[in-house]
Amino acid sequence: MTRFWHPFADMKAVAGRELVFERGEGAWVWDAEGRRYLDAAGSLWYANVGHGRRELAEAAAAQMAKLEAYSAYDVFATAPALELAERVSLLAPVDDAVVFFTAGGSESVETAAKLVRRYWTAVGRPERHVIVARERAYHGVSGYGTSLGGIPPNRDGFGELAPGIEHVPYDDVGAVAEVFARGDVAAFLGEPVIGAGGVYPPPEGYWPAVARLCREHDVLLVLDEVITGFGRLGAWFGAERYGIEPDLFTVAKGITSGYVPLGAVVVGPRVAEPFWRGDAGMFRHGHTYSGHATACAVALANLDVIEREGLVQRVEELEPVFAAKLRGIRGAREVRTAGLLGGIELDEPERVVVRLRELGVLTRIVGGHSLQVSPPFVIEPADVDYLVERVEQAIGA
Ligand code: PLP
Repeated sequence: MTRFWHPFADMKAVAGRELVFERGEGAWVWDAEGRRYLDAAGSLWYANVGHGRRELAEAAAAQMAKLEAYSAYDVFATAPALELAERVSLLAPVDDAVVFFTAGGSESVETAAKLVRRYWTAVGRPERHVIVARERAYHGVSGYGTSLGGIPPNRDGFGELAPGIEHVPYDDVGAVAEVFARGDVAAFLGEPVIGAGGVYPPPEGYWPAVARLCREHDVLLVLDEVITGFGRLGAWFGAERYGIEPDLFTVAKGITSGYVPLGAVVVGPRVAEPFWRGDAGMFRHGHTYSGHATACAVALANLDVIEREGLVQRVEELEPVFAAKLRGIRGAREVRTAGLLGGIELDEPERVVVRLRELGVLTRIVGGHSLQVSPPFVIEPADVDYLVERVEQAIGA
């Protein structure tokens, strides 16, 4: 019997039936019995540079041997945190951005939500307190993240959630305009492409229209780039792909490709200004591991790999191949893709996921009826064929 209470798991079904992974290399992982699987989901959308990179392990070891971590509260800092903030700021699709580190996506969303509310209070307009989010959205499991999420079962049974949050349909610009018109909206917060809600790319023109409304109504635009950040859509950030500039955005996952937990909120000058140059006082918020030296050192090594191997470009080049192959899957109800993100909608997803595991492919169900496809960026076209063949085989089984 296991003592490990798994996240997002029905322990009655899972306990004692665990699938234990032991090692990984590129887009593949092996279980404790030596069986090989294609990691079609990039674990939880994060194994972007692929598994088994020694260089990242060595970066962690070198930093730990020197100084594993030190508090970054108040005046303290470590070199990797300073360097990573600089590097992320340079990559960010926002001029002159500053970077607030966290230990993952949920902490980033929590930080972003608190920051936008605190911002409007700081500039003397606390009536702007509502945060608008989208149905089908996933923003992690913190207090705000749970409240902002638009997947009903993730919100059920927790009693009263955070007040001042409203949801609009994921694809409806008109609904956004209607809520904004009231004048009490602090921010619009959304994923460039909806991920855990089922992989839904935005309708054509959606993001530029929302960004325009944000400007017209003086609403802050917050992108949750936890999945899309650092290359998943064939651009460094989803904001670039959709031609918009957020006021702030969250990242995690791809910043280290999951080798160690790390997240961040990247904040543009408008929101940073009252805290950095104005008289808003301090942002009374932070986590023990904000700016963790080893996590930041691994992130730097991960960015080195992405840049040296041209992995963002690789995603851009793979996108049409990936899209064409996935869209050709016989027996799928619908296939949605953007970059190296895909959702394969099926009639019997539960059965197919289990069968795929037997056939050597790891994925899971998102949005109730779709298979998540978000492989490492190093996936080969032949591996995509392997995936497609096995999905068809599993559907037909
Ligand atoms: N935001 C988005 C868009 C996500 O996809 C996730 C996780 O999948 C999160 C936030 C939460 O991140 P974490 O699980 O690292 O807390």
